Amino acid sequence: MERNKIKRFFAVLIVLILVLFLVSGCISNTQGQHDKSFFAMDTVMTFRVYGDRSAKKAMNKAIDRIKEIESHMSSTHKDSDVVKINKAAGVEPVKVHDDTFYVIKKAVEYGKLSNGALDITIRPIVELWGITSDKPRVPSQEEIEEKLALVDYNKVVLDEDKKTVFLENEGMGIDLGAIAKGFAADEAVRILREAGVESALLNLGGNVITIGSNPDGRPWRIGIQDPRTEETGQPHFTIVGVTDATVVSSGDYERYIEEVYEKTGERYHHIFDPRTGYPAQAGLIACTIITSSSIDADALSTILFVMGREEGLKLIEGLDNIEGIAVTTDKEIYTTEGLKASLIPSNDNYRIVD
Ligand code: AMP
Ligand code: MG
Repeated sequence: MERNKIKRFFAVLIVLILVLFLVSGCISNTQGQHDKSFFAMDTVMTFRVYGDRSAKKAMNKAIDRIKEIESHMSSTHKDSDVVKINKAAGVEPVKVHDDTFYVIKKAVEYGKLSNGALDITIRPIVELWGITSDKPRVPSQEEIEEKLALVDYNKVVLDEDKKTVFLENEGMGIDLGAIAKGFAADEAVRILREAGVESALLNLGGNVITIGSNPDGRPWRIGIQDPRTEETGQPHFTIVGVTDATVVSSGDYERYIEEVYEKTGERYHHIFDPRTGYPAQAGLIACTIITSSSIDADALSTILFVMGREEGLKLIEGLDNIEGIAVTTDKEIYTTEGLKASLIPSNDNYRIVD
């Protein structure tokens, strides 16, 4: 009798231990949700990644990678490739990291494709206006003309074998602000995918990129920021459903000289027209690109903003699997053909034009 009791006790113990093992095994494989917000590349980034513990680890690795990219491509970080290239302008070529070389090469290609609407040698103009600095100001026409003479993407000399970058004239400078976040987004996604992540939503300060769909199987719903939210009281002007895609926006609402805007209503913003040296005024207040590669989307959203709806949307229509949305100063929405049937404004301040 005693012996039977002992046997039963051990049997129950073994079953309990087995159950415990199973439960803990299940917990570690649970499709958990991992969220993280952080500041990088001059903006707040928010990551939401689904998966087990390895997904969380990959999320942290992706964040480290973004900070690494920032340290190479920032215009202000001491010792970044960009700072070194700008300092050596007109003097000597600078050896850079492969990432920096890749991004600059892409940017120059987009410079050619857009006939200079995207021009990373815009740095002297960006500095002159100081829109991202503590002391932004409207410069004189003379000052603008002087700096504009230094803007020309054809004077970026790339040596593929040596991985060097040279700016031909002294005083020239590059700024990767229009494209680097897109590259960072692609890299974050690459790292997450390599770790087996199948569902994620990354927001890099308005540049959104997704992996797969929502865990419930439906497309991710991305609200595109209303560029006049202070007037309309609405957060977005449309919502798009996407799977494995990036949604990148540019606009005059992101950064502008607030003091001047409050006094005069004139919005001197951060996207410059390299032909004039003034903030681009091509009739748009915002625009968005939807495609799979974020570096392409980032370059093209800036291009669309500078070119304006007619020329810009025509350029995008000629590219494969890339869609564009252009919002005019009259709050009219124009899109590429692929979005025409599906896009619906989410507030009635905006109107779709066919
Ligand atoms: P995005 O928000 O991607 O449209 O990029 C805007 C940022 O790119 C600005 O803050 C500047 O640093 C830089 N930028 C402004 N105008 C241009 C331009 N025409 N071509 C290339 N970069 C630009
Ligand atoms: Mg851009």
